[in-house]
Amino acid sequence: MIDKHSRKISYLRISVTDLCNLRCIYCMPPGGTELSMKEEILSFEEILKIIKHGVSLGVNKIRITGGEPLVRKGITSLIKEISAISGINDIALTTNGVYLKEYATALKKSGLSRLNISLDTMRKDRFSEITRGGNIVDVFDGVEAVLKAGFKGTKMNAVVMRGDNDDEIQDFVRYIMERDIELRFIELMASGWKDMVDEDRFMPTSEIMEMVREVGELVPDKQRIGGGPATIYRIKGALGSIGFISAVSKPFCKTCNRLRLTSDGKLRSCLLTGGEVDIKDILRSSNLDENEMQRKLTDAFLRVTDMKPVVHSGKNSAVMNRIGG
Ligand code: SAM
Ligand code: SF4
Repeated sequence: MIDKHSRKISYLRISVTDLCNLRCIYCMPPGGTELSMKEEILSFEEILKIIKHGVSLGVNKIRITGGEPLVRKGITSLIKEISAISGINDIALTTNGVYLKEYATALKKSGLSRLNISLDTMRKDRFSEITRGGNIVDVFDGVEAVLKAGFKGTKMNAVVMRGDNDDEIQDFVRYIMERDIELRFIELMASGWKDMVDEDRFMPTSEIMEMVREVGELVPDKQRIGGGPATIYRIKGALGSIGFISAVSKPFCKTCNRLRLTSDGKLRSCLLTGGEVDIKDILRSSNLDENEMQRKLTDAFLRVTDMKPVVHSGKNSAVMNRIGG
């Protein structure tokens, strides 16, 4: 699949649930969100069918996200089935890390390639405030369990918020000095839930980088340039590396190779702008024979690919737990 702007699409990000065990201040309202009815959520069979169809059109990389993907029952068996699909050569999962201690070994056995763990603070009291009730010890234990289980290329995502955790940027850098983790500082984005993210808390990558440089010199990692959305650097003496994701100040749309599948079955062209097609509707149409179904699925993938904007406007916002941040 090649879009109108000559970008080759090979990566599908899948939100497997809109449920979450946390309520991060930039992602969910305090009382949680209105959740989809159970029957609106894609079944594993439907997800696998969509992936297989994507593979026939050039998809070779999958990310599982949410909501919190580890709250979905049977998630490791889904990953096992995805890893058995010929043509898929990379399966990653994004998690808040709370259940990782329990799941790390099973995830490794299921064939998962890599993990991204989201953690915005190193402090216990602050973690509880930012996530509205989470226990940071669970996440730290989870990180160690992942390293012990033998996962390589583990990433840690930290959303930087002025006044909330910008004083910890250097603590994060010290944390990866002795751990083989790629730490990625992420710019705060507007949330689809109104009035939750105020602009004053936004901190651009340029400022975050200045603070990192006070710990040590940043050397661009030449092998990693041009890959994903982050620009990666090494810092002298560190086992880990550091990336910066500047989705707001410097969108990475030019190299975007992804489509998204929402938990309620919409195939989507972009996190923020563009459009979506209800692919669940196609899968659940009882009047289609197999050939018609395959044709409609192909048409959905191609239509959504065509909807990809050349660059997102920067003004839109996303309901992260449904779309999968
Ligand atoms: N629950 C999992 C987690 O937290 O990793 C997966 C889903 S979460 C929506 C995926 C990522 O989106 C997390 O790294 C989170 O920090 C990020 N995210 C959510 N809302 C955001 C916002 N307003 N700005 C920037 N990143 C956001
Ligand atoms: Fe849950 Fe992840 Fe959103 Fe936090 S960022 S509320 S952990 S879905």
